[in-house]
Amino acid sequence: MNYIVIDLEWNQANGTTEPVPELPFEIIEIGAVKVDEAGRFVGEFNELIRPCVYTTLNYVTSKLIHLRTHELERGKPFKEVYDKLIEWIGEEEYIFCTWGTLDILELQRNIDYHGLKSLSEEPIPYLDAQKLYALIFDEGDHERKSLEHAVDELYIEKDIPFHRAFSDAYYTAKVLNRLKSKDSSKLSYISYDVYMAPKSRSSEIKIVFDNYAKYISRTFDNKVLLFADREVSSTKCYKCRRNLKKKIKWFTMNSRHYYALAYCEEHGYLKGKIRLKRDKEGRLFVVKTTKLISEADAEKLKYKYAHMGKRLKKENREI
Ligand SMILES: [Zn+2]
Repeated sequence: MNYIVIDLEWNQANGTTEPVPELPFEIIEIGAVKVDEAGRFVGEFNELIRPCVYTTLNYVTSKLIHLRTHELERGKPFKEVYDKLIEWIGEEEYIFCTWGTLDILELQRNIDYHGLKSLSEEPIPYLDAQKLYALIFDEGDHERKSLEHAVDELYIEKDIPFHRAFSDAYYTAKVLNRLKSKDSSKLSYISYDVYMAPKSRSSEIKIVFDNYAKYISRTFDNKVLLFADREVSSTKCYKCRRNLKKKIKWFTMNSRHYYALAYCEEHGYLKGKIRLKRDKEGRLFVVKTTKLISEADAEKLKYKYAHMGKRLKKENREI
């Protein structure tokens, strides 16, 4: 299997252009490195794209990536670069790897905007090297570090300048190799881009990691149908597979994130978190994570629930 380590640069509306809601970020450069299983760099991809929506460079973008508007004139149309990218990725099995969570999402949005064939009809698995870096080198620290920070900390030689698509893909690939050699088991912590939600029950995603489990549901027409679904609303212990009785049913403070608390006789408290999402057609789906937590953390959740205002409590009864 290959790793397609990819980085994008994009431009956005500035003082002279109005933002287009379907395309908040227009890709102007794609850089990628193909890394094989042994960590060898076996291919490079580096293309500038001539923008057609935001044709003058946003000041911040221009400063950051050292690119001027007239240079973009040399770029190729998005479609041409995308076709070339797909051909370059090739037929072999691969997984994307990026620094952070945005690139695969924005790539798909740009593909859609141009009416091109989707990368996938389902959520796309990828390795978020930024998350893995926190997990492997920062003991799971929630703070996300910059790519340059990681490169410095790992004493990776800085032989090309940062902040262009290719160079950032190149450094991400170097970091990926370090992550692998430090703790390859952690590379099983794959992320999913959910620009495309699962289409059917059979394509829903269920993965169990060491210390939590993740579930990505298919889409539903509305919230009532969604919470009526047993798989969505269940709190299952991912260690022993028992369906657990809830101590606190799903509740929310902001209508986007829902929490529940359950108890496993064998493994203790289990906290459920549901993030409500919408696919591009506006249909609802959830990303649910369940995690075994300490008694102290369970108390915190109980406190949060107990001190929820009356208005919120009433709204929650209507779920
Ligand atoms: Zn259990």
